[in-house]
Amino acid sequence: MADYYDLLGVSRSASADEIKKAYRKRAREYHPDANPGDAEAEAKFKDISKAYQVLSDPSQRQRYDQFGEAGVGGAGGGPSAEDLFGGGLGDIFETFFGGGGQSPFGARQRGPSGPPRGQDTEVIADIEFGQAVFGDQIDVELKLPVRCDTCDGSGAAENTKPVTCVECDGLGQVQRVRQRLLGQMVTASPCSRCGGLGEVVASPCGTCRGEGRVTDDVSYKVDVPAGVDTGSTLRLTRRGAAGPRGGGNGDLYVHLRVAEHDTFVRDGDELVCEVPVSIAQAALGTSLGLETLDGPEDLVVPPGTQPGHVFTLRQRGVPHLQGRGRGDLIARVRVDVPTDLTDDEIGLLTSFAAGRNENVGNGKEGLFSRIKSAFT
Ligand code: ZN
Repeated sequence: MADYYDLLGVSRSASADEIKKAYRKRAREYHPDANPGDAEAEAKFKDISKAYQVLSDPSQRQRYDQFGEAGVGGAGGGPSAEDLFGGGLGDIFETFFGGGGQSPFGARQRGPSGPPRGQDTEVIADIEFGQAVFGDQIDVELKLPVRCDTCDGSGAAENTKPVTCVECDGLGQVQRVRQRLLGQMVTASPCSRCGGLGEVVASPCGTCRGEGRVTDDVSYKVDVPAGVDTGSTLRLTRRGAAGPRGGGNGDLYVHLRVAEHDTFVRDGDELVCEVPVSIAQAALGTSLGLETLDGPEDLVVPPGTQPGHVFTLRQRGVPHLQGRGRGDLIARVRVDVPTDLTDDEIGLLTSFAAGRNENVGNGKEGLFSRIKSAFT
């Protein structure tokens, strides 16, 4: 027999995955069903299969590397394909096309897959702005299929047990063999009688009617980490819906929705707010208190502060969800122009403007006429 690596067309350092891929490609090419009556192809197919049997097994591969064929049972021509696959050649294609078994060998004896896991479940949780910034533990309440207490999820009435399904003999699936161009193809589908569970409940539990689960109100304590925002999703493994008949739980996804804040909006991990000052405060300067999420801060507004001026309070923003530290707090100055001037104030501003040679009033109506009336 030729060198096993050459037979599969891989190098001596090929990975297990490369060997498997190379084998599948060649096995399909030389499969007897694809080459009817071709003795050479059949012999080649057997050689390839033997080579794969050895090289796919780490300990056998090591012996082969060390001692050659003598190390793995001699040059006896190798086992037949029947020896390798324990039966019909169709099995090889089951593995290739529908299988899911890691190895082309031994995928034949597959037991029932067991009751399916419950569904993943989603829920929206509303939280306060401060809870999102600093984190908190919240209660999440929802309706959910949970394991039936009466039968402990089995679905069977008291003192009874589910019995093996006669349709699939407990395998949970039924196999159909179809003739295809490249040989038989075996497809397995879930048994319709037992729903793929391999067992049927003869006398169902009265509480859950054999489902093994009931819908109930559930409340979870959920830790919300600091720094989350609307759109953040927390995943709680195995807290979703229970599966039927004792199947495990799906996951629970908690989508967070954060309430707006009266003062602050978020820009990523920055907190942004406006600081309103009057024109006199902007011009003459002032000192004012800013209520941050961490408590009051003094803000010194220097004389001549312009609209849009930004004060940055380092590390007073939102904690970074990943990593240490916090964002900054950005306080942007807004200068409010008064719209409710008294006549005295109009007089003051007018003489202020006159002193700076500024033209004020529009000369036609409104403010201007009020100014005139104030001076006549
Ligand atoms: Zn029950």
